[in-house]
Amino acid sequence: MSQNQNPNQETLSNLLQENRRFPPPADLAESANVKADAYEEAANDRLGFWAKQADRLTWSKRWDEVLDWSNPPFAKWFEGGELNVAYNCVDRHVEAGRGAKVAFHWEGEPGDGRTLTYADLQREVNKAANALLELGVRKGDRVAIYLPMIPELPISMLACARIGATHSVVFGGFSADALRTRIDDAQARLVITADGGYRRGKPSALKPTVDEAVERTPSIEHVLVVRRTGAEVAENPRDVWWNDLVERQSDQHTAEPMEAEHPLYILYTSGTTGNPKGILHTSGGYLTQVAYTHHAVFDLKPETDVYWCSADIGWVTGHSYIVYGPLANGATSVLYEGTPDTPHKGRWWEVIQKYGVTIFYTAPTAIRTCMKWGDDIPARFDLSSLRVLGSVGEPINPEAYVWYRENIGAGKTPVVDTWWQTETGAIMISPLPGVTAGKPGAAMRPLPGIVADVVDDQANSVPNGGGGFLVLKEPWPSMLRTIWGDDERYVKTYWSRFDGLYFAGDGAKKDEDGDLWLLGRVDDVMLVSGHNISTTEVESALVSHPKVAESAVVGATDPVTGQAIVAFVIPRGNAGEDVEGEEFAKELRDHVAKSLGPIAKPRQIMIVPELPKTRSGKIMRRLLRDVAENRGIGDVTTLADSTVMDLIAEKLPSAK
Ligand code: ATP
Ligand code: MG
Repeated sequence: MSQNQNPNQETLSNLLQENRRFPPPADLAESANVKADAYEEAANDRLGFWAKQADRLTWSKRWDEVLDWSNPPFAKWFEGGELNVAYNCVDRHVEAGRGAKVAFHWEGEPGDGRTLTYADLQREVNKAANALLELGVRKGDRVAIYLPMIPELPISMLACARIGATHSVVFGGFSADALRTRIDDAQARLVITADGGYRRGKPSALKPTVDEAVERTPSIEHVLVVRRTGAEVAENPRDVWWNDLVERQSDQHTAEPMEAEHPLYILYTSGTTGNPKGILHTSGGYLTQVAYTHHAVFDLKPETDVYWCSADIGWVTGHSYIVYGPLANGATSVLYEGTPDTPHKGRWWEVIQKYGVTIFYTAPTAIRTCMKWGDDIPARFDLSSLRVLGSVGEPINPEAYVWYRENIGAGKTPVVDTWWQTETGAIMISPLPGVTAGKPGAAMRPLPGIVADVVDDQANSVPNGGGGFLVLKEPWPSMLRTIWGDDERYVKTYWSRFDGLYFAGDGAKKDEDGDLWLLGRVDDVMLVSGHNISTTEVESALVSHPKVAESAVVGATDPVTGQAIVAFVIPRGNAGEDVEGEEFAKELRDHVAKSLGPIAKPRQIMIVPELPKTRSGKIMRRLLRDVAENRGIGDVTTLADSTVMDLIAEKLPSAK
């Protein structure tokens, strides 16, 4: 548990008041895929509800039991059932006469592109599956995938799924060491990589990192290399070129049915709070929930929508909402290789205009960055095709939510703030775009079929208006099955804090209507003069100041108050020169006191050029706590840019 938890203080103080409401547009409400009755239907018969959702998929053998929970917390969903995940994502759409439909509009960063229809995807996946078989990969083997955002990435994942190999995708920005530990942990036999990818306007090499990693990974037999940048690479005896091996394979392959609980993939968490954990997801339940939530939360109409999730496939968001959910639903998606500001800061909006994207899913960190760059940039593009916007990864500050809705969604699109984790596999708490009157900053309600609550220290449900720990009270189809190779850590991390409840590690509050607001990690909660205060609420108050683009808040030991609030602030581009002065710091402190009350007033405001973030874009507050408490900086291996901490340390002497 966090060192910040005071046993006498059971709940989080509830500081933020937010009264804006955004009901769904009438036409969306009218034609929505999922309407309000779904909540009641699922509440009346949760397992029956999930069985009905499982029928969105094509099963080779029907299940005997929807849920086997006889050995908690080890769940088996759709026990006895068999299906092939790749068949469900690709072949069945072709068989139903939709082979000519576009699966991916791929957009390379340099401006090159490739369109893959479902029929194309079927041929490519079959060839790749045959290639894996030729390399000796079999059902149950693990395959590490270390690729940029190119079509070969989803193709490789689906090829694994097709033959029953369990993939472990490692984000292409990770170091040789990080890749090596993940390969070793999963005992992968093969790595699929590329010579490189394009990032920030230039080729960025991947193969040398793999070469370094596999020098010391005895389980790896082959390295399968895709040509992307044409960069020269060292060739080793175990290397095989994708162009040689995959291209000469037959494009016919019969998908083999797998048991519902067959391991589909291992994915390591982002490492925001500590050591990444190898989260195991299986087949039938996972695909059921990602397909259902993609249909429900984004209101996907496969015939007319063009969907785009800007995440990297190296994170769970990309697994569930670029690859498995959209493909299971037969969606047409955009797949984009690069960064949002290459070659210019309007690139994302240009992509939306080019493909007529209707549904866009991104992260608060990206939204705040776009706010920092200025409203005039998206205003130059035609974004009128958009009808639903989504957010995931961190709590979205109300100001960022409203900016997103106004500047990207023309003031009319619903914004769905989706709470979930690598561990949950799929979205758990989110508005439904045709049902929910959205509140900026709130994830609102558990989706139909999901049972979540906020509890105090003693596992008692807190009343409306209270705050505490977010828990999940019933198993769900896409839940993690274990931490790879470590059942004990699985039980200890998630199921031991509260008896019989899944402990998410996040703080949350219930407002007066019973709607849920995520308040950040329990480990980040600050204890100031006997009040548990959420970092998220103070950060949101700071971001609501017109000159603040982004902020991170931590609690630092204080002789008087126990902990005191220290805020790190990035000013907006148009904030002017005076942001370094004592006056600005005072203005911000007063602004927080006015928004949330004097208890939340930061002791210190530090103006910084950047914040430490994980490679998936989440703020790493524990490093800022080290700075605020004048300690040596802790483990930075999951940090995206380690020079950021030097930039911040330089600012220290001028701390106000
Ligand atoms: P690690 O578990 O290794 O520290 P991580 O928690 O960052 O890494 P992920 O599984 O990628 O790894 O992130 C899940 C977490 O992200 C959630 O527990 C929550 O803290 C945060 N999160 C995701 N979506 C939301 C959201 N919509 N609102 C608030 N928080 C969110
Ligand atoms: Mg986590």
